[in-house]
Amino acid sequence: MPRTGSTGSAGEILELVRSGRVTTRRELRELTGLSRSTVTLRLAELTSAGYVREVGQRVGTTGRPAGILSFDEASKLVLAADLGATHAHLALTDAGGRTLAEASLELSVQAGPEVVLKAVARRFRELLKIAGRAPGEVVGVGVGVPGPVDFATGRPVQPPIMPGWHDYPVAAELAATVGVPAFVDNDANLMGLGEARSRYPGVTSLLFVKVGTGIGAGLILGGRPERGVAGGAGDIGHIRIAHPVDGRRCACGATGCLAAHASGAALARQLAERGIPAESSRDLVRLIRAGNPEPVALVRTAGQLLGEVLATAVALLNPAVLVVGGDMSLTHEHFLVGVREALYERTVPLATRDLLITASQLGDRAGVEGARHLVVDQMFSAEAVDARLTGEPAETARSAGSAVDGTWGA
Ligand SMILES: [Zn+2]
Repeated sequence: MPRTGSTGSAGEILELVRSGRVTTRRELRELTGLSRSTVTLRLAELTSAGYVREVGQRVGTTGRPAGILSFDEASKLVLAADLGATHAHLALTDAGGRTLAEASLELSVQAGPEVVLKAVARRFRELLKIAGRAPGEVVGVGVGVPGPVDFATGRPVQPPIMPGWHDYPVAAELAATVGVPAFVDNDANLMGLGEARSRYPGVTSLLFVKVGTGIGAGLILGGRPERGVAGGAGDIGHIRIAHPVDGRRCACGATGCLAAHASGAALARQLAERGIPAESSRDLVRLIRAGNPEPVALVRTAGQLLGEVLATAVALLNPAVLVVGGDMSLTHEHFLVGVREALYERTVPLATRDLLITASQLGDRAGVEGARHLVVDQMFSAEAVDARLTGEPAETARSAGSAVDGTWGA
């Protein structure tokens, strides 16, 4: 019998093959209830488009040897970039998640989109060279940025810590440069996606909070980012806190924002005001790891401020996991202790009884891991594949732009 709601489309068959639920034509027929001729037709579509290969032979207990259906994820490459305010992490992976080459670089988003995207494209090309792979093997580009993004257009929306990026066609420009579809999302969304898929695959609700130069959250529900109607979901850094200690102005122009008091940039500034040299969240991490007591107290208070803001989200959603990432997750447990204190104090036990509050396990690789999942979802989901095979552009699959030429990264 066909699965409930299944149309037995080529895209759905690809999902069965990708997930490993079926490995032969016979299993495919049995699981979907499709006829032999329909299975032959669908597989012909998928193999001629390069989605599926039939490899090797498996000798069954009865009947003829069966070809093994394979998605061949090793031959489909993804270029991923996680752009932070002051540094970036880039990776070349295959669709299955094997990292082929990666790079971390100091790169300020304040330099503006033209400079940053050129640097990213250059590094992408270097990663391909290092791994000995060809640009033509790349199926998609995924990029996370530290601000709200209109996912459908691939453009940032009024990002407070990214001057010059508002409405810039980030996805379109990267797609044109690399010659494959590109997808742009908020960095916390991608980090949450990476963490959820890699570390908490059975969990249906995960809240990820990135605390770096700014503060942003990503909500992963049912395995997918919840972006909100305008890409603003999770933009919690500019919620006004109840008792701001001063009238410090935030990067967004307002005063009393959570980010103006509890972000890595805010804490570095508070340290500098006390005569302890610190310019960024990275400096803060270095000081804490060196055992300096003053930043430890500041970080714990910052954790409490975040916990106060998150209490409503936790009461509203009753998530299973709250992951803190970004540089602040590298401050040992001090930040998390503050978060827990405020959350337990402000919510009923039922909201936090089963809540795991933890630091990111993927660390600075969370964003690129999420970007890889995003690209694979967008390129190989049943919907996207069916749209491509029937010649209709999928809602979220952008056109590839111009082909790769000799000027890429030059
Ligand atoms: Zn603000």
